[in-house]
Amino acid sequence: MFSQQVPQMGEVAGRARPPRSRGYAPLEVSPEQDAALDAAVALAGPGRVVVLDLDGCLFDSRPRIIHLLRELAGREGFLELYAVQPQHFVDWDLRATLLRAGIGAERAAGLAVEGQAWFNDRFFRSDRVLHDHAMPGAPPFVWSLYTAGATLVYLTGRHEDMRPGTEQALANAGFPWNRPRVHLLMKPDVRTEDTHFKGEALREVCLLGQPCVFFDNEPANVNLFSTAHPEALVVFVETDHSPRPDQPAAGLPWVRGFLRQAERPGCLAP
Ligand SMILES: [Mg+2]
Repeated sequence: MFSQQVPQMGEVAGRARPPRSRGYAPLEVSPEQDAALDAAVALAGPGRVVVLDLDGCLFDSRPRIIHLLRELAGREGFLELYAVQPQHFVDWDLRATLLRAGIGAERAAGLAVEGQAWFNDRFFRSDRVLHDHAMPGAPPFVWSLYTAGATLVYLTGRHEDMRPGTEQALANAGFPWNRPRVHLLMKPDVRTEDTHFKGEALREVCLLGQPCVFFDNEPANVNLFSTAHPEALVVFVETDHSPRPDQPAAGLPWVRGFLRQAERPGCLAP
């Protein structure tokens, strides 16, 4: 249905895509990213549904992790954890993150055990998501999809207990929220596996209109969407993702974030 309207954004000429995400670079821009964002807006319209992930997609979740590490540092005196900065996150390997922050190997291994337990118990709490901030350019981009007439579905791996914080975070960040044609679909509980939930949720998404655009940072999720809706524009957001071995299917467009070339101030380093 949409294939004629979507520009061909497969392999970039002369540039092989990395097999896995290189970590967040939300200020990076490119002609290919412009094309993907423009194509999404062109596809958005009445009767159509845009499906948007939250963590690692519309929201940069690194501040939440840093906050948790500093909570732990403050409580336990693990002062090395204050060295961790956003640029040290590339994947979900906390030990590797601590090594990038300059913490010695033996200490990093011990802190990673402590930090992972602290993280596991707190990352998926409703109030903690308020430490995230929107990816730069994401709120106006999502508004442009909404004002084009599309129905928005925020489809997240967060579970229902996190709804209050998530709704507040959407409002705080300036995303379309608490309006007609805007929906938040969450996992029923924390134990449900993310990709399984998103697959099941597609039935509900289809009741809202024709899915035309998907953005997600998890390879298994973009592959799921692309298989279920091959006519839609499915965009892989290159931030970080789970250690699962999946890779985004060939031909799917990749973006680093939601800024266009013309929007990025020259004073900002990627
Ligand atoms: Mg995500």
